Amino acid sequence: MKDINWNNYSPETQAIRAGHKRTHEDEHSIPIFATSSYVFKSAGEAALRFTGQQPGNIYSRFTNPTVNAFQERLALMEKGERCLAFASGMAAIMAVGMGLLKSGDHVVCSRGVFGNTVLMFQNYFAKFGVATDFVDLIDTNAWESAIKPNTRFLLLETPSNPLIEIADISALADIAHAHNCLLIVDNCFCTPVLQKPIDLGADIVIHSATKYIDGQGRCVGGAVIASDEIIEKAIYPYLRTGGATMSPFNAWVFLSGLETLTVRMKAHCDGAFELAKWLEQQPDVAKVHYPGLPSHAQHELAKRQQSHFGGIVSFELNGGKEHAWRLIDATDMISITANLGDVKTTITHPASTTHGRLTSEARAAAGIRDGLVRVSVGLEQIDDIKKDLLKGL
Ligand SMILES: *Cc1c(COP(=O)(O)O)cnc(C)c1O
Repeated sequence: MKDINWNNYSPETQAIRAGHKRTHEDEHSIPIFATSSYVFKSAGEAALRFTGQQPGNIYSRFTNPTVNAFQERLALMEKGERCLAFASGMAAIMAVGMGLLKSGDHVVCSRGVFGNTVLMFQNYFAKFGVATDFVDLIDTNAWESAIKPNTRFLLLETPSNPLIEIADISALADIAHAHNCLLIVDNCFCTPVLQKPIDLGADIVIHSATKYIDGQGRCVGGAVIASDEIIEKAIYPYLRTGGATMSPFNAWVFLSGLETLTVRMKAHCDGAFELAKWLEQQPDVAKVHYPGLPSHAQHELAKRQQSHFGGIVSFELNGGKEHAWRLIDATDMISITANLGDVKTTITHPASTTHGRLTSEARAAAGIRDGLVRVSVGLEQIDDIKKDLLKGL
């Protein structure tokens, strides 16, 4: 197999071909290397591998060819120098914290991040003397005022869940760097197909591969993408010791997920845009949250920062929680599940599920009303999705 420099190819091609180092068996599709360890030719070679003087595989907690292929491919797509895969998105977030933080450090995080990310910082890192302040995602001044001399990094998701608000990554990267902090972006909702945070100035990208990267709701996995220096000094040593490793089987599923990611994301975005416009015309719908609509507060920013507007739409019903539940229960086809990024359309009531653990005051402050419904638009025929929603409108 020729040694190709994939940097010279476009992301669509990288997503399909990069990372696979064909073996002596001349396989076309990448194999699953189901092996926990690797054999050395001599005691001397073993010693060189362990000290890092000789590159190569040692043990699948931290080196596996199938996982390496996934890491190499995703790093190229995110325009990062290096990627490490993890057992889940939460394991990736945990690794970033464990690798970068020490007791006495401070973190600034956007208020609307994934619920378990909030708990990770509020309940666990706090136990070890790391304080976290949560700020409004789109309030750039609030980010800057929350930074303290001991702030290590700023962490955000854009677009946010479930209100699909958009943060200005370049502006926040400038603020972070002016204060000697890192900017970390959870790029789960956009994937590198729609948004490349490192190009915009972010230092670290986090993924839950469980969502769009898999795309068919099969495996749980995560990833961290950053410079060689950050990975080598902070994240890789933690992965090697902490052990929340991605399995070769899951890496193999995610590799094939990446191969279709470009076309899937475009189709998800087209469906979501059409559904958002249709929902805006429904008399029962008070408000639609979708960055493709000119009514969205960060519509211009989304146009600048993303290549498409994304596959998630949320909307508020006039009849509050009762109407939201009625609409969800009236669907026949759409899956009632909190997962997203699947080829199957999913529907959730954030106030009583993903955000149900918040107090009603905290929910109100976050703008998550009882009539809010979130739809992750799948790849079924869009008219079938509309028909299913219409049963409860
Ligand atoms: C799901 C999700 C996570 C957590 O990922 P898991 O793979 O479920 O551990 C983190 N961030 C965002 C934005 C998510 O949607």
